Amino acid sequence: MVGHTFTSVMKIPMRNVHVLVIGAGIGGLTAALALQRAGLKVSVFEAALQLGELGAGLTISPNATHALEYVGLGPYMAEHGDKPETGASVHYQTGEVLYYTQRNSEFREKYGAEYYQIHRADVHGALADAVRANDANAIHLSHAFKSFVQSGETVSATFANGQSLTGDVLIGCDGVRSVVRGELFGVEVPRFTGQVAFRGLVDAEPVREHIVPTPSSTAMGPGRIFTRYFVRKGKLVNFVGIARTDAWKEEGWRIPATVDEMLSVYSDFNEHARAIIKSTPPGQLFKWALFDRNPLPQWTKGRVTLLGDAAHAMLPFLGMGAAMGFEDGAIIGRCFEASSTIDEALARYEKARKERTTMVLLNSRKQGSVYQSDNPASMRGQTSGELRLGLFDYNVKTVEV
Ligand SMILES: Cc1cc2nc3c(=O)[nH]c(=O)nc-3n(C[C@H](O)[C@H](O)[C@H](O)COP(=O)(O)OP(=O)(O)OC[C@H]3O[C@@H](n4cnc5c(N)ncnc54)[C@H](O)[C@@H]3O)c2cc1C
Repeated sequence: MVGHTFTSVMKIPMRNVHVLVIGAGIGGLTAALALQRAGLKVSVFEAALQLGELGAGLTISPNATHALEYVGLGPYMAEHGDKPETGASVHYQTGEVLYYTQRNSEFREKYGAEYYQIHRADVHGALADAVRANDANAIHLSHAFKSFVQSGETVSATFANGQSLTGDVLIGCDGVRSVVRGELFGVEVPRFTGQVAFRGLVDAEPVREHIVPTPSSTAMGPGRIFTRYFVRKGKLVNFVGIARTDAWKEEGWRIPATVDEMLSVYSDFNEHARAIIKSTPPGQLFKWALFDRNPLPQWTKGRVTLLGDAAHAMLPFLGMGAAMGFEDGAIIGRCFEASSTIDEALARYEKARKERTTMVLLNSRKQGSVYQSDNPASMRGQTSGELRLGLFDYNVKTVEV
């Protein structure tokens, strides 16, 4: 690949700025689209040989929907997203509804955006298609980032395949175990939380009678929750179980688990949850241990910054990890659009995003103990954490940057 080098100048017209995005995940592709929308040249570098996503569902809350609409995916979401009217939190044994959460019946009016559930691969593929529609050569696969060097007004990235490239800005969107973050601030050893998660995606038809009382629900038990919802227009059921145990401690999205292993953790959950777990085909159940990282005091050094999980990996209890990446991506585009220098754009971005993502990260930590109460019946009549914290009120299109 031919390097693209700018000479050192104090102020580059923003349209000539070349941004190196490391990682073609949800955050990196959203940022790429928003920066392309702002008129910048964007090159995205992805370690994987092919673009692909986990076989898993994703909750797109109204704040995330605003970000997807900002980068032009509103019509895609409206066509392909599942839109639950309500969610139910239920007692793990009796199935009694402890509280309902109204969703689309009132969200468009209240927040100006829908609440969707969708297959991760679908929204990820739509983002990648949109980036390539703007620039067919924007995404470079098999480019595992290794290190960067900043020199004057430029930053050069080196990749494991031996290539290197120089641009004006580098954004580390390389996920929870970010190499860019390690290069910037040193490698942090995350804390094991004593919790593990399981995930699966199954055909809906054989388990349809077990989808009660609502299409989207979370069963709450002592030290465990089991969440499930539809994706692909009701054809598939996505489930995630999170349980307190320190039986093993591996971090990673693709560690195989067995149905028997998950059932042994959920043996006292009601028949509906167990039937869904049992229906998982061999090789389609995965597990990962939950590790906690502290918020970073700073994201940016010179021309290098962080975005998405690389900046603020959080526990999954508020279901906001991807939402924060979508928001970051839209906002970094707006910051470049609103600024006349790169330094100004990066300062605006960090200022606009750090406080909110830190608040969500810290509350995701707290929410774990709320959901995994030893006495689930005490949850009767509660309000869901995201609503209580007003997380859906945030609109990337209008928030000050
Ligand atoms: C099963 C599951 C369910 C989830 N459900 C939800 C949900 O419902 N709602 C929600 O908001 N969040 C959810 N999350 C969290 C959410 O998926 C993450 O927060 C989100 O994916 C973070 O996006 P990201 O782009 O920062 O990182 P990632 O999506 O992890 O993308 C990082 C990308 O960088 C690439 N990469 C890594 N290292 C390098 C390197 N050295 N060089 C180049 N490329 C590299 C990776 O291959 C990857 O493509 C869920 C997570 C999981 C695993």
